[in-house]
Amino acid sequence: MTSDSFSSLPISSAFVANLDSLGYKKMTAIQAQGLPYVLQGKDLIAKAKTGSGKTATFGIGLLQRINPRFFGIQALILCPTRELADQVGKELRKLARSTPNIKLVLLCGGKPFAPQKSSLEHGAHIVVGTPGRIQDHLSRGTLTLAGVNTLVLDEADRMLDMGFIDVINEIIAQTPDKRQTLLFSATYPSTIKKMCAAILQDPVTVSVEAEHTESVIEQIFYQAKASRRNEALLALFEHYQPETTLVFCHTKIQCDAVARFLHDHQIEALAIHGDLEQRERDQVLVRFANHSCSVLVATDVAARGLDIKSLQAVINFELPHDADIYIHRIGRTGRAGEKGIALSLFIEQEQPRVKAIAEFQGKACLVKELDALNASTGFTLQSPMVTIQLDAGRRNKIRPGDLLGALTGDAGLSGLQIGKIDIFDISSYVAIQRSAVNKALGFFSNGKVKGRSVRARKIV
Ligand code: ADP
Ligand code: MG
Repeated sequence: MTSDSFSSLPISSAFVANLDSLGYKKMTAIQAQGLPYVLQGKDLIAKAKTGSGKTATFGIGLLQRINPRFFGIQALILCPTRELADQVGKELRKLARSTPNIKLVLLCGGKPFAPQKSSLEHGAHIVVGTPGRIQDHLSRGTLTLAGVNTLVLDEADRMLDMGFIDVINEIIAQTPDKRQTLLFSATYPSTIKKMCAAILQDPVTVSVEAEHTESVIEQIFYQAKASRRNEALLALFEHYQPETTLVFCHTKIQCDAVARFLHDHQIEALAIHGDLEQRERDQVLVRFANHSCSVLVATDVAARGLDIKSLQAVINFELPHDADIYIHRIGRTGRAGEKGIALSLFIEQEQPRVKAIAEFQGKACLVKELDALNASTGFTLQSPMVTIQLDAGRRNKIRPGDLLGALTGDAGLSGLQIGKIDIFDISSYVAIQRSAVNKALGFFSNGKVKGRSVRARKIV
């Protein structure tokens, strides 16, 4: 038994078996460092980057303390966005599979209030949600936090960036003083330090530094003229031709403008930021994850926590003010030992940011000339897949197998031509290889799925 095995923890063997069935064979670094303290009931500050396994670090701990027979909220998890709350909710449900009768409620904005209220009335043990909506419930008296014994602030730095500090403090004021508080943050600016001092008691701090090293992520900086940033970005795409790229911008407006610019130059790109409607956001994420869009343009908040695998490149359209955030951004590429590339554009006034990054990393930043890039004219970046949207989903009892069956059976596609299938409540998305899209659409215009005709359209 090694110290990074889950069986070294004071948790039941049934719980360990469930973890094993989830493919959790051994602890990640943050879990190995944090879980022993979490299980002792200590307050914890955990600093780790996206994808390091923070959810289980608090999830395994809080599940041990839930009393299923007491119907009241015992654990509260605050997350910055609906997507992150969704992801945490899903992960906790999986972790709780070996602990019967635990009810978890998601409380996020953008969803109707009444069903949330009724779920709370039926009794729940865990609430995962965004600060705004949780405060709404508190002020309407539909939620009480007097029985909370574990409070989790996930992605705390993002929540503060989003201006949630007052709301969070009001929420915390309604939880018992005697509670365990766990705070997770990718960066540790002074605002977070202040917050920690106010709400945690005698906390343990664990930190897993960015594991990526220069050998895995190649970092190159390019100085651009302020008025030529778009063209510089285009030159990066033309030269490096990455297949999957996340472009970081500061603002929502910038995201939209950059995505539009790339689109106008034959590079398919989608923007994601907080102003999109829920359905639009779902669609963007589905299309990026299933390879029917190669470039995602995002703000830090929107990109945070997205479980996107295998990015070839991260591009900083503009450098962040904080070196910490830079490190966090570029950590989205070069995962799992694969080579990644991080390209950054900066203008003259942003030179101090390059300097700060060099100091932070303890090594000089490699700056190259834009002129030295190969500008291959007529370059286009087309994704290998295309997404088809169907007007039937979970409510119509559609499962991935039904769609796969129809497409490989009646429609005559080969399994290799079909990519990821995502089923939502009232719609589904299927990724189809570009060359086979018309065949698939032709099938849906006549053929049936589970005895029912479904309407299909290509998303462009
Ligand atoms: P973070 O919150 O740090 O960004 P998550 O908790 O969302 O990261 O975990 C990232 C991914 O890693 C998830 O898909 C999760 O299921 C998986 N994961 C977490 N812990 C382990 C583990 N010990 N072994 C294998 N996979 C894990
Ligand atoms: Mg997380």
